[in-house]
Amino acid sequence: MKIRMPATLRGRLVLLNLLLLTGILFLTFIASYLFLKAWLYRQVDNSMSMLAREVSLDITVENNNIVSNYSVNDSELEKQRQFMRVLNNNGAVQEHVGPFQELPVQLPANIENLRRGVFENTTMPGDDEVIRLYTLPVFYHERPAGFVQTGQSLESVQDLLQATIFTLLFLIPLSLFIAWPCSRWLTFKTLAPLTYIAGTAEQITGHQLYRRLGMKGEDEAARMAAALDRMLDRLQESFESYRQFTGDVSHELRTPLTIIRGEVSLALQKDRDGQYYRDVLACVDNEVDRLVRLEEQLLLLARAEGEKMDLRIARFNVKEALAPILRQISLLAAAKNQQIGWSIPEDIFIESDSGVFKQIVLNLLDNAVKYTPREGKVDLSVICRPDRLVITVSDTGEGISGEHLESVFQRFYRVPEQRSKSTGTGLGLAIVKKLVVLLGGEIAVNSNVGSGSTFRVSLPVAFSGK
Ligand code: ADP
Repeated sequence: MKIRMPATLRGRLVLLNLLLLTGILFLTFIASYLFLKAWLYRQVDNSMSMLAREVSLDITVENNNIVSNYSVNDSELEKQRQFMRVLNNNGAVQEHVGPFQELPVQLPANIENLRRGVFENTTMPGDDEVIRLYTLPVFYHERPAGFVQTGQSLESVQDLLQATIFTLLFLIPLSLFIAWPCSRWLTFKTLAPLTYIAGTAEQITGHQLYRRLGMKGEDEAARMAAALDRMLDRLQESFESYRQFTGDVSHELRTPLTIIRGEVSLALQKDRDGQYYRDVLACVDNEVDRLVRLEEQLLLLARAEGEKMDLRIARFNVKEALAPILRQISLLAAAKNQQIGWSIPEDIFIESDSGVFKQIVLNLLDNAVKYTPREGKVDLSVICRPDRLVITVSDTGEGISGEHLESVFQRFYRVPEQRSKSTGTGLGLAIVKKLVVLLGGEIAVNSNVGSGSTFRVSLPVAFSGK
């Protein structure tokens, strides 16, 4: 028969408890029964062998007849259903005290050669009452004189053992009957915290992520609740940052879209000359540029934030990799009449993701040029340390005040005073930070309002030959 496990944890625990208890009770009861049985038999054997030995000590032989001089209490033996008899060497009964007078003489095989007594079980003829029999050879002046036999009915012992079986068989179901409700109650009590956790967790929806289980204690349930609370903290944090992100993106989209719509609807109101249309299209082109840049940066940020961004680690020459970026930045700097300088050691080969590496430097240089006024100065330096590469981008621009320094690496954060001056998206430094972390590095910024900023990136890299 296949036992079907209950569907609930509580039911399963109760069932397993009861099965375990039944097994333990059975084993304990079987062991107690066997122990009791062995002990009772030993008691019978001890009392018979003791009586036989006492009788054998007081034996004389007269005219080839064995005589016992030991006085045995007949009524006492009768009461205990015990007998004693003395047999000569031929097995003829010389004396019999106690019940079972009709018990035929039977001597264990080979008894003449034995010095110690022999135990065996026998039955009265025509009766199934089992009798334990002890036969002890007796010697008189070192010569075999006959045997002393003692016997005892095993009826009372067997009755006692049977009663024990019945008692035990009654006690097992009784114990289980008592254990069942106790086990149910205990399991209920033990699992109550789980029921509470499940009930509360059920009520926590996306709108109630602030709720916590808040269970106190040190036990497993409290530890599980604390782990769930920590998970809710993280969930709430990412939900909030997701909400914030969505708000920021739509806010960033709104400005260029509003400008485009405004310009286009103005142009459509009446006929305009060619120059007007050209100006509108130039403005639209500018805003579309901004949208495209925003889209590219969002994509890059999404890739950098997703933990699965595949890094393409390969060996490359640092100076060669940075050359196109420096050309691009030099053009921007020239347009603002800025001086741009760099110091990059020749022939440094590193193993890293060159695309990510270039993006970091490009964003930092782009910002330096963007936030440095005309005639200013922008510098890039790359230094090799034993196990890392330190990239420093410094400028003589307007700088960032202390209160904003921590925030410039957040998504969409732009220093309020500069918002109106640049068309930035506020994503450049957030991307830089993510990419630096992705490469296992660190970034720090030092800035003084009015005298410029210095961004320092430290990347752990493997150098492969200079
Ligand atoms: P953005 O697209 O606005 O440049 P970033 O994330 O690159 O976005 O920069 C965030 C803000 O940090 C910028 O809006 C600007 O206010 C400030 N910032 C970044 N780099 C510099 C710099 N080199 N000098 C002064 N301010 C800077």
